[in-house]
Amino acid sequence: MIVVFSLDRDGFRSASFIAQSIGRDLVGISTEVSNYVPQLRLIGGEEEAVEALSSMRPQLVVSGGSRKDLGVAARVAARLRASFSSNVLAAKLQGQRLEVERPAYGGKVKASVSLELPAVICVSGNDSSPDTFPVQVNREHLPVRSKIRVLERRVRDSTDLRSAKVIVSVGRGIGGKEGVELASQLAQVLGGALAGSRAVTAELGWLPPDRQIGISGQRVKPDVYLALGISGQPQHVFGMRESKVVVAVNKDRNAPIAEEADYLVVADALTFASELLRALKNELRR
Ligand SMILES: Cc1cc2nc3c(=O)[nH]c(=O)nc-3n(C[C@H](O)[C@H](O)[C@H](O)COP(=O)(O)OP(=O)(O)OC[C@H]3O[C@@H](n4cnc5c(N)ncnc54)[C@H](O)[C@@H]3O)c2cc1C
Repeated sequence: MIVVFSLDRDGFRSASFIAQSIGRDLVGISTEVSNYVPQLRLIGGEEEAVEALSSMRPQLVVSGGSRKDLGVAARVAARLRASFSSNVLAAKLQGQRLEVERPAYGGKVKASVSLELPAVICVSGNDSSPDTFPVQVNREHLPVRSKIRVLERRVRDSTDLRSAKVIVSVGRGIGGKEGVELASQLAQVLGGALAGSRAVTAELGWLPPDRQIGISGQRVKPDVYLALGISGQPQHVFGMRESKVVVAVNKDRNAPIAEEADYLVVADALTFASELLRALKNELRR
């Protein structure tokens, strides 16, 4: 039995596609009804997902790759003492082992990794459409005694980066929160979304983690990717490589992002952002 799991719709679709390529004996665990598996158990959230997945003791769990899915999957792998791999692009069974393909060296190459079963894998987001089935839904919730207490709830920016046509993305070179605010206004005027490098999300905390582009963040393919003060390390480029047009603003003309850029503006990122914002606002006033 292969268990497909994700807390969100896109993750469940991506995971189902990879799971269907491995086998057809599929059972789903998710928060919403979906017909990519013949049998589905609905769960209320992360804690119930951990309980449900562990109690089934499956040979293989194929999970979505969002931050929350990764958290659940890692906990389940630890409980089941199962092999684990994230960022999986493709997988196939070879006897008692699972051969997976995943990016290595910041996405420059694909590595083949052989995992012993039982295994838990988290897929990399993909746009593929899995087959659909008449689905039997189990709505019985498991009792969960959570050790987690919710202290505070914060509203997060819900703009979907994966479907954004324009992304304004900031790196350390944007200089600080003032620059991030300017970039956010620019994204609004352009009808796009705001994102950033790992330096500004994980290290500096100028943007929340779900705005991160790259190998350990989101993979996007907008029509326009405007990179403000981003150096263009391979781990970042992995997430934006499929953008149609890349405009990079960097004070260093030799920054690696220049290799990815269709247009390179050698300038101060903050000055560029405020000048562009002023010009666009003037244009809108006409
Ligand atoms: C396992 C692993 C996973 C990782 N995953 C990710 C990931 O998913 N996403 C990600 O982004 N990174 C990731 N990283 C980190 C990555 O390697 C880089 O450290 C990070 O992308 C750098 O962010 P940055 O370009 O904002 O900062 P920096 O590398 O510090 O670059 C700042 C850039 O701004 C320019 N600059 C400075 N001042 C100005 C100015 N005033 N005007 C214009 N330009 C200016 C500089 O010339 C420089 O090019 C990962 C690293 C590891 C090891």
